[in-house]
Amino acid sequence: MIVFDLCCSAGDHRFEAWFASSESFADQQARGLIACPVCGDDDVRKAVMAPRVGAKSNRQASAAPAPVPAETPNAPVPEAIRAALAAIASKQAEMLPRSRWVGRDFAAAARAMHEGRAPEDMIHGQTSPEEAQALHDDGIAAIPLLVPFVPPDAVN
Ligand SMILES: [Zn+2]
Repeated sequence: MIVFDLCCSAGDHRFEAWFASSESFADQQARGLIACPVCGDDDVRKAVMAPRVGAKSNRQASAAPAPVPAETPNAPVPEAIRAALAAIASKQAEMLPRSRWVGRDFAAAARAMHEGRAPEDMIHGQTSPEEAQALHDDGIAAIPLLVPFVPPDAVN
């Protein structure tokens, strides 16, 4: 059984009615068999409310509706964020093959290039937050890899 919150068009009265199924409601609605208990109007539609599915037909009238959490932790990742992450992942995948892995020498290598002691190159490697901050303070561009990356020397 499904209970629908219905609404008449004549007086906008809201009431509940039970149906065997959604189809049953649609059928009875189409044949004008559902009438508003307040004014008798048979032009009845679903009120803007989700239907509740009850296990028993003798549902307690005083049953409180289940609270709806504002945000569930397992909520799907919004499409925009997923698209942005996919774009970052694809950009990274595109750049890494042209980039030279320098491992833990990243800060030193980046600094050498910045100071003209090494040829300009695209590199990636590992650095500590302190080193990354120092590079940034010296105006050396370094961006963190946003997608988990396995260093080549960690691959067997
Ligand atoms: Zn009515």
